[in-house]
Amino acid sequence: MAGPADKDDRRRPATKLVQGGRRPEWTGDPRLGGGIVNPPVWRASTILYDSIADLKARGHATHDKLYYGRRGTPTVWALADALTELEPGAEGTLLYPSGVAAISAGLLALLAPGDHLLMVDSAYEPTRSFCDGMLARFGVRTSYYDPCVGARIADLIEPETRLIFLESPGSLTFEVQDVPAITRIARERGVVTMLDNTWATPLLFPAIAHGIDVTMMSLTKYVGGHSDAMMGSLTATRSLWPRLRQATYQLGHAVSPDDCALMLRGLRTLDVRLERHGANALAVARWLAARPEVGRILYPALADDPGHALWTRDFSGASGLFGFTLKGADDAARARFIDALTLFGIGFSWGGFESLVVPSDPRAIRTATEWTDPDALLRLSIGLEDPADLIADLERGFAALGGAS
Ligand SMILES: *Cc1c(COP(=O)(O)O)cnc(C)c1O
Repeated sequence: MAGPADKDDRRRPATKLVQGGRRPEWTGDPRLGGGIVNPPVWRASTILYDSIADLKARGHATHDKLYYGRRGTPTVWALADALTELEPGAEGTLLYPSGVAAISAGLLALLAPGDHLLMVDSAYEPTRSFCDGMLARFGVRTSYYDPCVGARIADLIEPETRLIFLESPGSLTFEVQDVPAITRIARERGVVTMLDNTWATPLLFPAIAHGIDVTMMSLTKYVGGHSDAMMGSLTATRSLWPRLRQATYQLGHAVSPDDCALMLRGLRTLDVRLERHGANALAVARWLAARPEVGRILYPALADDPGHALWTRDFSGASGLFGFTLKGADDAARARFIDALTLFGIGFSWGGFESLVVPSDPRAIRTATEWTDPDALLRLSIGLEDPADLIADLERGFAALGGAS
């Protein structure tokens, strides 16, 4: 969709968020004066050509020339371009109707029958499900590895290993991976790396600069930021970009320009929102840490988290999603706690402006490692409310815990 970013681009990320994708030819017809601030919604399926010569010429353009709706319009290219600019070293970005569609398209593009895939054991559950289902059916073998494997990943690489998939921090359990150690070994051994970077976004962890070949985001979460649109992205290095683009065309993925406009709107404020999500989450997590009912908190921004040292080394901040356990609580006690909350909505997804809570149970979705903590686990997505109100709401949960049993 979008081409390479300027290699000498020294603008800082917050500035790129504001300026990204706003090419004059995409923000209005220059004959009308142009100059619309955010790229407008360019809806199209059919594109009309001036002549047969024109039709033929545009068919050869690989991207950013209007050709057919599925290949995108300026609204789509503007979003893709803006995301590419946030990843120094990236060649381009492809967009998908959801985060899961981005993951499955990336794996299908880069793997073939007989190949072996190393998948992190803390991966998002639908990622696992795709590997154990469709990928297995197509003859790709997946083995799961401990998220804390670090440089010992070298011992797990087999002659058929083609791809190592990472997610850091891990879904539900928030282990931080040693990404630079893994990418260094992968490059030495000629193995491609792909990272689910939804938690951090390139603002807190520029993945390509850390050696990742393909970085994925569920834009549904922080980029959209308002719980009203779904989309996924893959951003890749120059060597992998053509394969990803070709596979994406073959699979027929296309995204709605209306949704791209929502994503572009969200993207402009990502920096300020993430900063507030992180600060609010830290305030809530620190308060929880002092509660006697809390077992442990799974949030690498806290100094006593096992992933804190790696997080401090590699990340420039924390987002607002973390987990915690309730000491000695069973399913029923956890349900009493959650049901007593009034500001936290009970709901999946995360990264929107409103706080959410869900029960989570990693035990059943681990195979390389074991989740042995007997206490009930909860996941909080901390929104943009005043943290004092969120804390008061959590007090209601603790009060309900102490009640009937
Ligand atoms: C939500 C999520 C996805 C999938 O994104 P959708 O847009 O919901 O398909 C992938 N990875 C992580 C870590 C997620 O939280």
